[in-house]
Amino acid sequence: MKLKPSVVAGAVVIVVLVAAIAAVYWWPGRAQADLRRIPGQNVLLITIDTLRADALSVYGGPAQTPVLDRLAAEGVRFDFAHAHSVLTLASHTSILTGQYPFQHGLRDNSGYRLSRDARTAATLFKKAGYATSAFVAAFPLDARFGLNVGFDVYDDHFGGTNPSSEFSMSERPASAVVPLAEKWIAGATTPWFSWVHVFDPHAPYRPPPPFDTQYPGKPYYGEVAAADAALGPLLDQVRRSDRPTLVVVTGDHGEGLGEHGEEAHGIFAYESTLRIPLIIAQLGGATSPSSGVSRFFGSRGGELSSISARHVDILPTMLEAVGQVVPTDLPGRTLLPREERAAGAPTRIAYFEAMSGMLNHGWAPLTGVLVGRDKLIDLPILERYDLATDATERQNLAGRSTTEDGALQATLKGLAPTLPGQRAMEDAEAAGRLRGLGYVSGQAPIKTKYTDADDPKRLIELDQSIHRALDAVSAGRLVEAEDIYRQVIDRRPDMAIAYRHLALIEWQAGNADAAIAVLRRGLAKGVTDSRAVAQLGEYLSDSGHVADAIGVLEPLGRNPSADADTLNALGIALARARRNDDARRVFDRLRELLPGSSAPLENLGVLALERGDVRGAKTAFERAIVIDAGSSRAYAGLGAVALQTGDRPAAHVAWSKAVALDATNFDALFSLGTSLARDGRLDAARPYLEQFRRTAPPGSYAGQLAEVARLLR
Ligand SMILES: [Zn+2]
Repeated sequence: MKLKPSVVAGAVVIVVLVAAIAAVYWWPGRAQADLRRIPGQNVLLITIDTLRADALSVYGGPAQTPVLDRLAAEGVRFDFAHAHSVLTLASHTSILTGQYPFQHGLRDNSGYRLSRDARTAATLFKKAGYATSAFVAAFPLDARFGLNVGFDVYDDHFGGTNPSSEFSMSERPASAVVPLAEKWIAGATTPWFSWVHVFDPHAPYRPPPPFDTQYPGKPYYGEVAAADAALGPLLDQVRRSDRPTLVVVTGDHGEGLGEHGEEAHGIFAYESTLRIPLIIAQLGGATSPSSGVSRFFGSRGGELSSISARHVDILPTMLEAVGQVVPTDLPGRTLLPREERAAGAPTRIAYFEAMSGMLNHGWAPLTGVLVGRDKLIDLPILERYDLATDATERQNLAGRSTTEDGALQATLKGLAPTLPGQRAMEDAEAAGRLRGLGYVSGQAPIKTKYTDADDPKRLIELDQSIHRALDAVSAGRLVEAEDIYRQVIDRRPDMAIAYRHLALIEWQAGNADAAIAVLRRGLAKGVTDSRAVAQLGEYLSDSGHVADAIGVLEPLGRNPSADADTLNALGIALARARRNDDARRVFDRLRELLPGSSAPLENLGVLALERGDVRGAKTAFERAIVIDAGSSRAYAGLGAVALQTGDRPAAHVAWSKAVALDATNFDALFSLGTSLARDGRLDAARPYLEQFRRTAPPGSYAGQLAEVARLLR
């Protein structure tokens, strides 16, 4: 068909008009970011823990985040990006490996280790000749969990191992982490890949000034604003750099903030905890000689992409940006080309999960899938949402169309996710630090079938109860905590965590029999958590029922993968039963299990002392100090060795050191004070004796306290 000239002319006019309108409205509605593939460019990955997408001001949120808002204006902001796990370690492992949790295998914050030969962003960048570094802010990303593989520098110095302070020292603020990255980057002489993790928005919410007063009643947003502010100098540094830097900023998961009954994160996978911000920009590069200002990149940005972006897309994007080959077996896809970010780009299907309820409480596992704006949460009570019309998941559509339910279920099944198996247990120190951050770890029995009664929607208040009880314990409201744990047990008699915490409260109050009875009741009700069994064995042993303790602990110890706490308790019980050779074998096994821990050597030292082997004891304590120069127990042991050899001055020096390292080493404190007093050095003894009288728990040190009172008179 031939067009008349007038019609063609009309069409041309319209095209020109459209182009003119587009030019006028280029910023910000139709903006496109200029992300380029540049071999050798630097890559900066920033993860902000517990960051809801809708917290940032650029996402319309209440927190004022000028630093990230500016970054979004320089690059691309994805407003429909999702994590695959709602837990710190699992989610970061997905970001760094580009794999779903069932592929990399880390399903919770405890009990898992990334394999030493894992392939991660760090190993791939290192292979490509990059200098690699990580600066992490909290214990869930401690090097022990394996994410340090491939990093030249993995800075996880967020706190010591002193148990008395572990709760407050297992995280550090962004203002402490970010300058470390700035310093390392300033010294880098080759292309680099650096991962910076900040933890501030994670509970407890205690924003620093001035953010503490700017968000009255909403301290979470104060923490978000503080994290944003801390990142400013780092981003300015890469903007000034001659070498361009690809910058990727995301959150590992969000925070419930009470939505759907969830305060924190880990149990559910609603948008409050699954949707995360994702901003990608390219900064720095050639410096303009006239202005001195870097304008090469970041000059075109402000792009808003509404595609379904995923954490697994980050690794392919980073690799493509530096010209590296993207492994073909990854589930993610690059976000670098413009057409991948445009409306109409092929759908990215996203798998997600929340396994904390299953692994820690014995509830049903939560898996799900996102296809476009359709979201399926596969639980005993099925959930389906249309996020296009119901972004906060108020209206469960499951059951309204079995075709639509079935299609999403088939898609999820097609991804072939597997459920986690039984995992290893963390030692008490690691468990304590995780507990200090609000994570509850336990070992729940894995069932073959889960019913509606196991659905976390029906049980979420139990999780809230456990967290409330933990708060009550830390505030010293023990009666309240005990009531809460008893109510939890009434509702769910196989929840090991409730028995274990209740028993711990009784034990710490000096009620050994009550503590033992609580744990025995739990085991009778079907609790199989090996830590509950180990706890029972430890209490039996410590309260003088050594034969019963060995009866409980020995079967657990026969398991080749027995955890450190079980072995430690078994070794001590065997030593108390004078089965010294058996005890030594158990402690030797523990040494192999925990090569970086001084505790097995300390116990071997005590064992040697008990059988009169002073030289063996000395060697063991000295070796313990080589492993951990801050071991108060090892110095206390050396004090006991010196006393046995008649060298009282050396004993006093060793005990002083032990007390200086740990003011709650009451045995060392008592030995030092009383020994000085016996030497007639009353003035030197007095401060130690008074400190003992003030701080030693009466339940465990009644006899010693009476003696100290006598000496002080
Ligand atoms: Zn996290």
